[in-house]
Amino acid sequence: MSLAVNPQFIDKIKKLGAFDINACYSCGNCTAICPLSEGENSFPRKMIRYTLLGLDRKILSSPELWLCYYCGECSDSCPREADPGGLMMALRRFAIRNYSLGKIADLFYRGAGSVFLWIFLTLVAALGVYFFREPHPVFDKVKPLSFISLDFLHIAGLALGGFIFFFALVNILIMARSITRGKKPSGPWLKPLWETLWNEVFLQKRFGECEDKRRRLPHLGLFWGFSLLFIATILAFGQDFHFFPLWAKIPARILGLAGGVFLLYGSGYFLLKRFSRQDAYSKYSHHSDWIFLLLLLLIGFTGLLMDLFHLLSMPWATYITFAVHLILVFDLLITAPFSKFAHSLYRPIALWLSEVYKK
Ligand code: SF4
Ligand code: SF4
Repeated sequence: MSLAVNPQFIDKIKKLGAFDINACYSCGNCTAICPLSEGENSFPRKMIRYTLLGLDRKILSSPELWLCYYCGECSDSCPREADPGGLMMALRRFAIRNYSLGKIADLFYRGAGSVFLWIFLTLVAALGVYFFREPHPVFDKVKPLSFISLDFLHIAGLALGGFIFFFALVNILIMARSITRGKKPSGPWLKPLWETLWNEVFLQKRFGECEDKRRRLPHLGLFWGFSLLFIATILAFGQDFHFFPLWAKIPARILGLAGGVFLLYGSGYFLLKRFSRQDAYSKYSHHSDWIFLLLLLLIGFTGLLMDLFHLLSMPWATYITFAVHLILVFDLLITAPFSKFAHSLYRPIALWLSEVYKK
């Protein structure tokens, strides 16, 4: 691997965050205070050195990037106000851009242009819903599938699922190759995989190691909110294709409702934090952070609103909310392998690889 020094690197990273890492005088306070830095995988000072030297390939091959949960404790304690936590976050944005096939993720992290791309995708989804809606929906009672046909939902869902699966898999392989290059597995892989899934994904225990433990619950809300909605969709989809019995619609509905509430709680919490800008981790927000959280909030909101209109027997309101909900879901999912969403895949896989490929 070439370790060529790249002096322009710091300027590139500065566009992805608001930190002043040139102020760092390498005291090591940040690494000493970081509750998640330990043993061979010490950070953030190591990452600061790589950044100042422009060692971009070293950064992309460092699992430490994903071991940081951006609690901001290092930034609060830095005597030079260099914001090392902000740098770690900016480096993760840089990694998401670079791990993507053909650097497609670049399109979603580049200034205002990327916002237009999101608007364009929204228009594509809106046109899709408009042209593929059913011409004569039922209005004497609420019947969402008389407005958007089940066939259209199935075809669009399968196409979207295939797209996400392909790009997510390729991007993960690129990331895994970067992190494991030149290293050899040093132990079993199954036990660390299960431990990572249980501790880091399902329970997100690392948040509990930070001094400010309040973020753990809303972050769990985001994870479980999305996961429950996903499971509910699979159940409903499977039931449509007769893989599951008819009663599977009932747990699907309950899980969908619970998922919507969790998603609203998690996304609402983090949006409020970003608006208030009181904590180190919320002082700077890249537009990709706003878009990700807003999409999650609006998806949870429109999903619940649709159920409410359905309950109140309001066909028009239900159908319009259904259409908006579908457009938002499309926006979130089509960009998932390239947006902030991707961190939910990269982080656990990097944590797992860092256990299997110890130096
Ligand atoms: S970022 Fe701050 S705390 Fe960390 S090494 Fe530099 S000066 Fe010290
Ligand atoms: S933000 Fe928190 S987890 Fe990340 S490097 Fe700083 S102290 Fe460690």
